[in-house]
Amino acid sequence: MVHSENRESENIESKKIESVAPSLQLFLDDLHCKYKSLGDGAVANYIPELSKVNPDLFSICVATVDGEVYQVGDFNPLFTIQSISKVFAYGLALEDCGRDYVLTRIGVEPTGDAFNAIILDEQSKRPYNPMVNAGAIATTSLIKGKNATERLNRLLDMYRRYIGRDVFVDISVFTSERSTGHRNRAMAHLMLNFGMIDGHIEEALDLYFQQCAVMVNCRDLAVMAAALANKGVNPVTGEQAVDSRYIKDILSVMYTCGMYNFAGEWAYKIGIPAKSGVSGGIIAVVPGKMGIAVFSPLLDSRGNSVRGVKVCEELSQKFGLHMFDCAGGSLNLTKNGFN
Ligand code: GLN
Repeated sequence: MVHSENRESENIESKKIESVAPSLQLFLDDLHCKYKSLGDGAVANYIPELSKVNPDLFSICVATVDGEVYQVGDFNPLFTIQSISKVFAYGLALEDCGRDYVLTRIGVEPTGDAFNAIILDEQSKRPYNPMVNAGAIATTSLIKGKNATERLNRLLDMYRRYIGRDVFVDISVFTSERSTGHRNRAMAHLMLNFGMIDGHIEEALDLYFQQCAVMVNCRDLAVMAAALANKGVNPVTGEQAVDSRYIKDILSVMYTCGMYNFAGEWAYKIGIPAKSGVSGGIIAVVPGKMGIAVFSPLLDSRGNSVRGVKVCEELSQKFGLHMFDCAGGSLNLTKNGFN
């Protein structure tokens, strides 16, 4: 009896999935169509190699915690992950050093400043948070390994767990940033001065530039975001990518700091933990439900993808994804699908 009741509710569930899932795909298709002609913004050029990207590239992917992936547009082309990497490196540093120690080195306060501002907290001398460059460089310097190769391999293996395949560093972008990244170098020196980063600055910077130059596509980003939505487990491979204890730390700093000096407005309007990168990616995490990724290299003045912000805003409104939206939206995703 119990068994047949379960079967019945399973059938109802799967009908709901059939009836609602196509509407998500259609909505993504519509969004892609609506925004592909939006040409506002400019591609990043302060890392010379990034300026070579095709500005028309545009894709949207959603991966659910059940491992379903919905995608539209240019979801296959690879690009460098840039600042979105900060989220995942923070998770690895937390695993390596523990929350208490990481907090002694990197704060969790939003800055209201640009991602590349050369500032530290006046009292504690810590970088403000791990989502801006200074904090991210300090974070990466905490990743353990007996030498540079082992640290890089551990970082690459972390990406593999989140994505489900091996990844590589784009050498042109890495060397391009390494030879021009003097602002980041200045931040590292400032932190060395205050004892917030240990001795080997060039090694820490190299690892940071390498972490930013890892190649991913939009679909990969959606699956990575979905792993954060899914207690740290990659929903496609079932592999634990990061210790579930640290998910709340990661998502909290994404929520308050992930979109830089747009973080407050993003939290107010869109209401989902998110992170952007200067190559044009944005990830957003709806805990227990899904990961969203958008890729479009045209950026606004704060370094966030113009189309990416628009798409996330529409998705949040349409499906009631804002964390504090008590009124609810038109679609809810549950562990077992849609209802
Ligand atoms: N690698 C870039 C930098 O350090 C990342 C910045 C970003 O994506 N916002 O400047």
